[in-house]
Amino acid sequence: MLNIALDGPSGSGKSTVAGILAKKLDILHLDTGAMYRACALEALKRNIDCLDEDAVKGFISDIDLVIKYENGGQKTILDGEDVSLKIRDNKVSLMSSNISSLPIVREKMVEMQRKVAAENPCILDGRDIGTVVLPHAKYKFFITATSEVRARRRFNELTEKGQQVDYEQLLQEMIKRDYNDSHRKIAPLKQADDAILIDTSNMTVSEVVEKILSIINEDA
Ligand code: C5P
Repeated sequence: MLNIALDGPSGSGKSTVAGILAKKLDILHLDTGAMYRACALEALKRNIDCLDEDAVKGFISDIDLVIKYENGGQKTILDGEDVSLKIRDNKVSLMSSNISSLPIVREKMVEMQRKVAAENPCILDGRDIGTVVLPHAKYKFFITATSEVRARRRFNELTEKGQQVDYEQLLQEMIKRDYNDSHRKIAPLKQADDAILIDTSNMTVSEVVEKILSIINEDA
């Protein structure tokens, strides 16, 4: 089964890159960040603090979370509702970083992710795919960029959608989320020893895609 692991910090462009690669290779793309975002949204809906392990325990084992594919795109369905847009809210971003630090949440999400990877040729993007979820993936990439470049990308993405955001605030939030993600006890954001590192600070999306494709095709 072809499994590709694509990890990196927020704003590195991994979801965009993974989506394009999945189309080109005709495989499935699982954006695992969307799953943690959905968990955070569920906690917000229930007015639960994302770091309150006991309260989160109360709903996580039977969370009604379904990942669907429509016209090649991933749809995140929570309690029967398509929340694909809602989970992109800035407050959900910060909360998802908190809830994803809880072991109980990670166990449940990793189990769902491994099931998808066992049943489909696919590319998974996240933080711990190469290190924890699919340590035996055939291909592993870790893509990154400076925090300033990543905050600028996020700023452009949100302002294009008409959201009012402050670049400095986004940069600080990005630094905080990176810190949380790379310092948590379980499955921290970390490059797998056998992953190929790509710094995208001065690269376009298509350059990154071409680079990854050329590595995969070398083998084919
Ligand atoms: O990738 P994205 O920014 O959508 O992920 C949202 C949050 O989910 C991240 O900040 C991170 O805390 C968490 N996450 C994770 N492991 C993954 C994917 C995402 O902990 N595999």
